[in-house]
Amino acid sequence: MWELRRVRLYPGGRLVCIQFHGTAFASITDRPQCERYVDGNGYLALPGFIDSHIHDRTSGYPEYDEPDVETVRTIVLAALAGGVTTVVAMPNPRKPTTTIEALERKIALIRDVAITYKLLFGATKDNTGEIAQLGNYLEWVLGVKLYMEPTTGDILVREIVDQRRVMASCAEAGLSVVSHVGNARMLEQNRAQFAEPHLTDHCTIRHPLVELDGTNTALQLARETGCRLHIAHATLPSALALIDNARLAGRLVTAEVCVQHLVRHDGFLQGLAGSLTSAPLHKVNPPLRSAEDMRQLVTDALSGGRADTTATDHAPHSFQKKMRARYDDIPSGMTGLQTYFHIMFNFFAQGIISFERLIELTSRGPARIFGLANKGRIEAGADADLVVVDPEAFVQIREGNTISPCGWTPYHGMECRGAIKAVVARGKLHNSQLTMRTNTLGRGIVE
Ligand SMILES: [Zn+2]
Repeated sequence: MWELRRVRLYPGGRLVCIQFHGTAFASITDRPQCERYVDGNGYLALPGFIDSHIHDRTSGYPEYDEPDVETVRTIVLAALAGGVTTVVAMPNPRKPTTTIEALERKIALIRDVAITYKLLFGATKDNTGEIAQLGNYLEWVLGVKLYMEPTTGDILVREIVDQRRVMASCAEAGLSVVSHVGNARMLEQNRAQFAEPHLTDHCTIRHPLVELDGTNTALQLARETGCRLHIAHATLPSALALIDNARLAGRLVTAEVCVQHLVRHDGFLQGLAGSLTSAPLHKVNPPLRSAEDMRQLVTDALSGGRADTTATDHAPHSFQKKMRARYDDIPSGMTGLQTYFHIMFNFFAQGIISFERLIELTSRGPARIFGLANKGRIEAGADADLVVVDPEAFVQIREGNTISPCGWTPYHGMECRGAIKAVVARGKLHNSQLTMRTNTLGRGIVE
């Protein structure tokens, strides 16, 4: 047993002590209970962040993997540095997680790590047989990812008839579908307009209408099949409105909004905002939208309540690949896991969202969506995952601090309020600037 003394569970709240036993919170008390303790100095303690959309580029088939870009080990280190204690990894490394064998290899990689590491299984047009077996792996697998348009990795369910079959088999197996919505045919038609596209054409090729069409299709298929649907990285206020309508009609549908679409607009891809050299770093799917859409997304998704969770879609590629000359050769994806906490906490510090809403978006919401019943709250019996924050201190995001082997962040130079002082994951203290002490109780400890 040990405890974290003198922290607040919400701004202006009373000082409490949090006791840890094994990997769970044991109790929360007004007075010290344990001889081993860390003094929390009056800082805030928040439930550990859940980033339910990350890409680790690792499959367990070394001959396919890109270890220079991101591994399970570096994901864990970046998460712990950034206040994230649970991640959900996507199934599209080079060798995708679309078979039971690939799933078992991936599980072997994540089994004993310091954070809670979960997976989505990848749907293909003909692996419903595998989907039917996922009930044996529910400790690790939280759902099935359905890619309705091409993106990184060879993992696409292109035709609606196949998409419907995937959703029907997930509904039958009691699994949620997480969908990267889109329409491959529309996307290809848009691409065909350009002989040699420039970066700035990315937003025309992956046009808002492609996302809206895909959102409509996914919602329709979920309705037909009774499948529980989580829509990944909604970027448009109009897409959120569609999802909201379905929700109001009683459908089991939730929406994720990603950080990059809340703080970056297409001007960054065009080199009009930020620096010219950072423009290719901002090539991402779905693409950054207009500044107006971005501002409206912040209002609707965050304060307006239309996002059920935020996430990062952390998708590292090597800097060399991001700097390639040809549009088609530049991989899509932005990094964001290590900076997730800072950017989201800053929305709270700026008064854009309440403290309650911050917790809802970053831990309680994703815990509910993915059935992680013991996460998203600091209460006796819940999983002992938290982040200790000095809410007054400022931090500047620096590329040089990037833990991911890719070595870059699109947010270099961004100043955020809220400095992480310690992280507890599965009951263990990590990256602590606060010292573990031992003191016999009742001998003049002043609290
Ligand atoms: Zn993704």
